[in-house]
Amino acid sequence: MQTKRNLDFKFKNLLTLFEKLSKYKTSCVGEWDGDNCIVVRHDIDISIRKALHFARMESCHKVNSTYFIMTTAPTYNISSKENRSYLIEIFDMGFEIGLHFDPSVYRNADTKYIEDRADSEADIISDIVGERVKSISLHNASLITREFEFGKRFKEAYPYFGGIWGDKGIYVSDSRMKFPKNIYDVISKSIDCPVQLLLHPEHYSIDGDSYDRIFSKVVLDYIDDIEHTFEDNSKYDEVVGGRLKDCVRKVLNDNRGNSST
Ligand SMILES: [Zn+2]
Repeated sequence: MQTKRNLDFKFKNLLTLFEKLSKYKTSCVGEWDGDNCIVVRHDIDISIRKALHFARMESCHKVNSTYFIMTTAPTYNISSKENRSYLIEIFDMGFEIGLHFDPSVYRNADTKYIEDRADSEADIISDIVGERVKSISLHNASLITREFEFGKRFKEAYPYFGGIWGDKGIYVSDSRMKFPKNIYDVISKSIDCPVQLLLHPEHYSIDGDSYDRIFSKVVLDYIDDIEHTFEDNSKYDEVVGGRLKDCVRKVLNDNRGNSST
């Protein structure tokens, strides 16, 4: 249920939000021309599978947006067979695909090294979707304190590195599963000024789960992925055979027993 300051994170409310967005002009990051509209972006921190499900709902309402994908995420490998196909499906729905970049992976490397790594990461994604990545968003941007003095070539290649404007327009996000402003009020202001809206697909679920349940379900999906990866192994039926979740539960129980002794 929508409250004055917040939106709960159930799919049915997300669909209402998409319905509302569809009544306004929306743009992906890479094609924003400076006009008053809602520039919609999604940073994918945890799961491409969740992003695909979200994109299917967004696509039904013809909202334009950018999906920013990591190549250094600890929880998904963008080059895996499944994730590649998920990403291509999102791209084929008409969404822009950008790079969600985490410079902290490279610690205190100099700017030239950071440029080269961002290029390399963008190339991985460009290669998968068949179109050059031109938009980059920063992972944990609020924690980044250093300045980057990028060269001309890099600035031209990625005009929207890190964000799309300084103090122009309104920025609103669902970071930490909380909208600091009434989202519907903000959307209606896009007639008078640009609005940048950041939504994380991992935050939304049928029941409006909290972080602990969301992460637990991602882990369960991951167990299925491991099981699937192991299926062709000649020992699969004997050792795993669809019982990996049961095995994980047993290991958790055993660990609980060990820690209590
Ligand atoms: Zn992020």
